[in-house]
Amino acid sequence: MKLPIEHQQVADMARRFANERIRPQAERLDREECFAGDIYRAMGESGLFGITAPEAHGGAGMDALAYSLVMEELSRGYASVADQCGLVELVTTLLHAHGTGAQQRQWIPALVSAGKRAAYCITEAGAGSDVSGIQTTATRSGDGWTLQGSKLWIHNAPVADVAFVLARTDVQAGKRGMSIFIVDCALPGVSKGPREHKLGQRSSQVGELHFENVRLPADALLGAEGRGFHMMMSVLDKGRVGIAALAVGILQAALEACIEQARMRRQFGQAIAEFQSIQFMLADMAKDTQAARLLVRAAACQLDAGEDATAAAAMAKCFAADTAVAQTSNAIQIFGGSGYIRGYEVERLYRDAKITQIYEGTNQIQRVIIARKLLKG
Ligand SMILES: Cc1cc2nc3c(=O)[nH]c(=O)nc-3n(C[C@H](O)[C@H](O)[C@H](O)COP(=O)(O)OP(=O)(O)OC[C@H]3O[C@@H](n4cnc5c(N)ncnc54)[C@H](O)[C@@H]3O)c2cc1C
Repeated sequence: MKLPIEHQQVADMARRFANERIRPQAERLDREECFAGDIYRAMGESGLFGITAPEAHGGAGMDALAYSLVMEELSRGYASVADQCGLVELVTTLLHAHGTGAQQRQWIPALVSAGKRAAYCITEAGAGSDVSGIQTTATRSGDGWTLQGSKLWIHNAPVADVAFVLARTDVQAGKRGMSIFIVDCALPGVSKGPREHKLGQRSSQVGELHFENVRLPADALLGAEGRGFHMMMSVLDKGRVGIAALAVGILQAALEACIEQARMRRQFGQAIAEFQSIQFMLADMAKDTQAARLLVRAAACQLDAGEDATAAAAMAKCFAADTAVAQTSNAIQIFGGSGYIRGYEVERLYRDAKITQIYEGTNQIQRVIIARKLLKG
């Protein structure tokens, strides 16, 4: 698929960044489970955050296709780093679509320049796939709000400066009684739990955020009261395109590593690339990676055309994530025993791939969405 020149340029720029800044550090970041602070700042300086955010606020002012290309290339470097780009994209999209002028001016430039780090807080102990089960509340007090509740498994929670928090503002009104609040993490009553130790994407800092009678000013409310659930859903299509692209980046990295290994590793007096069983695994990996990539780009183009992209984004996310898990397993097979050993890239890619089937809506939920679209009407 030939890309428009501007898109090719942004993809090339992200690829160079990944090759020079991310890939050389990926193994250490995974081993030490540390946040990639220097890479984060460099991404802000290089314009790799806020790909679709308006230029007036410091973003790149590009489209979802460009965003998907950047996500794929960054993830080819290391998925945990791409995740940061996805998070900034999600919250700046929310701010751009629903924020007041003052909220946009305060937060979008700070986020895309890497001056501030955000967390996007929906999940709770009793509410994962079923968001309608959240218990966090925001009640009016004086001319502001009081926030009460806890969120868990929140990306960036241990390092966040600002949290975008979904809370109930009308406990009787179900999904229509939820609102999103912009919460400064330095406010009294906000506390951070310890970070989780995860199977993969170990550089991503994930943990709990607790809100104990946190007093929020009136302008902490993002968008209209009671529209939080709808607003959150409205950014998920682009979010899923981003995660699908991230999965494609993992696949591409696995494919490249396997081609090199198949040429280099010799058994029975020949390169293992000479064995048809290895050739077929490589062929399937290349075929499925390209299929996933095309689904991602089709969904991104639908979004950019202003079409309903919900099913397309769900298909792309579901297929790319399932493929990433299946094919990184095959990548380990091609490497043999060494693929199972810490320090080999394919071992990390296998672990990094798994979460793509779970976050941004599990792959079961993606199938529910696709089936609902098929059977509607
Ligand atoms: C590393 C990591 C980072 C995360 N980052 C964030 C973040 O930044 N912000 C945030 O808010 N959340 C985040 N999450 C939470 C994540 O979004 C949830 O884990 C996910 O939505 C699934 O919810 P759950 O884990 O409670 O699983 P559950 O909803 O309990 O699901 C358990 C199983 O049941 C299946 N299931 C549930 N409902 C249905 C159904 N209707 N039909 C068919 N099957 C169903 C699921 O597919 C799954 O297999 C993160 C999680 C992890 C592990």
